[in-house]
Amino acid sequence: MNIYTINTGFFKLDGGAMFGVVPKSIWNKLNPADENNMCTWAMRCLLIEVGNRLILIDNGIGDKQDEKFFSHYYLHGDDTLDKSLEKHGFHRNDITDVILTHLHFDHCGGSITRENNLLVPAFKNAVYWSNQRHWKWATEPNEREKASFLRENILPIQESGQLKFIETGADDFPKNIIIRQAFGHTDAMMLPQITYKDKTILFMADLLPSAAHIPLPYVMGYDMFPLTTLNEKKSFLTEALQNNYVLFFEHDPLIESGTLVMTEKGIRLGEKFRLNEL
Ligand SMILES: [Zn+2]
Repeated sequence: MNIYTINTGFFKLDGGAMFGVVPKSIWNKLNPADENNMCTWAMRCLLIEVGNRLILIDNGIGDKQDEKFFSHYYLHGDDTLDKSLEKHGFHRNDITDVILTHLHFDHCGGSITRENNLLVPAFKNAVYWSNQRHWKWATEPNEREKASFLRENILPIQESGQLKFIETGADDFPKNIIIRQAFGHTDAMMLPQITYKDKTILFMADLLPSAAHIPLPYVMGYDMFPLTTLNEKKSFLTEALQNNYVLFFEHDPLIESGTLVMTEKGIRLGEKFRLNEL
């Protein structure tokens, strides 16, 4: 089995929304904001090569939205999904499975592309994995979360016939990939957990978007159920510390992954490294 980090580029989001109740005087030292209060975030995906399968976890913001949409998110950096795949000798048509942690546009926007003015799957040969509960949540969105669930990212997946729902107890993936769930950021977000070289890697998605979000009060303003997130953070962080898991940060602008340590202030980031250093 091989694992590759797939960088799809950087974008910007409002620092206040990303750090919730934490005051700017504190978070600005961790991820300095620009003159519009926007901070830089990565859209970092993961590719797993196992047996004859090539499994991609999330796929960034994509390229099909109009200029007005992208003008809100200040895309920057040289990385794209295609370039990052190519670096490891792969093409998007090689992908057999796309696991969508959740259907917010910065995680699933690359799923669908525009070809001759039609919206079609960007991964022609892949099964797209979501779960029934999250799919319902995303396709019947509440007004507060609606702006994150774009119909053009979601509905064409189902129309293509390439959508499958992960079901509890089913053995859809090799044994070294387990799908965990969290319910605070959005309903039924999926957190893939991968055993690799005797290590356990936990893909944190938006439960812990960056290493700066490890301290418990750092819960995003975007979260639907912040107190659920708080409890999930406590439980995942404790488990990760006890078992020396490697946490993978999808949005951290600098830190790809790391382990945890206990300090007098609580659980904090210990070692940080890139997955290819494992
Ligand atoms: Zn999200």
